[in-house]
Amino acid sequence: MAKINFIQVKDNSYFCDGVFSIGLYIKNNKAVLIDSGISKDLAKEIDKSLAQINTHVAAIINTHCHGDHCGGNAFFQQKYPQINIFSTETERAFIEDPLMAPTCFCGGAQSFEALKTCKPLAPQQPSKVTDIIAPYQDQKITICEETFEIITLPGHTRGMIAIKTPDNVLYCGDAIFGEETCNKHPILYYTFIADTLNSFKKLKSLIPFVDAAIIYHGGRVPNLPLLIDNHAKRIYEIKAAVLAMLHERPHSLEEITARIMQANQIPDNLVSYVLTKTPMQAYLAELEQEQLVEVKVAEGIAKAYVKNG
Ligand SMILES: [Zn+2]
Repeated sequence: MAKINFIQVKDNSYFCDGVFSIGLYIKNNKAVLIDSGISKDLAKEIDKSLAQINTHVAAIINTHCHGDHCGGNAFFQQKYPQINIFSTETERAFIEDPLMAPTCFCGGAQSFEALKTCKPLAPQQPSKVTDIIAPYQDQKITICEETFEIITLPGHTRGMIAIKTPDNVLYCGDAIFGEETCNKHPILYYTFIADTLNSFKKLKSLIPFVDAAIIYHGGRVPNLPLLIDNHAKRIYEIKAAVLAMLHERPHSLEEITARIMQANQIPDNLVSYVLTKTPMQAYLAELEQEQLVEVKVAEGIAKAYVKNG
């Protein structure tokens, strides 16, 4: 694995170069990580690079539970048993139990194997969250005698947070994705649509007041407000596409997923399927909440119908 370089954003705030823009706040030979990467191997490399500047990891804040964000927790916790690991209560169970996410993708029942071994979906090793952040409220927390601000940004997951460092750098987790990720994944992974759109507004309102904003898949982007607007546009387009399908005729979630996958040339594998089906569930539930559609079961198949249509 290539050596990890730390790119300075401002004063004590850095991020790792490479695919995952893991955040670091480095002071007095201690590092607070904002997310811990996808694997033990990556965590080891970060640890090595920090050792070269006589620094070790003292704490990790997980923005959310996905395996590419908390996959390094177990390595650091084994190496430094005194480490503090922070997450919201909502995300905690998924970080501590690697089977939780694959199980969720399988309707709460035993998961298919391909989902269990998919690193970005869930951590491959459990870790213990030592410090629970109360969910759904912005707040300040103290780590290594420094104050970090927790900013709730639900939508990608229910309990996702952004973190503002003491030197005013905002780490946005997966609230927004960089261009490369957007091109690779035509259906952006959002699981609560109204929350997502509200989080976009909140993030946009914060940008003028921070000195820099870092997104996990993309790092530092030149025009974040424009990128946020483009994300919102894509969400409205997909929502409209789902509603248009239902105006043609009632559809099951499976049928909507199949049509969206085919229209967007999404590869036929289980991981791509659940990463499409789950957002489609969110769009359907949102349309139901808005009383535009209703879901009825006929002959054992749940289908969404346009209301009064
Ligand atoms: Zn994520």
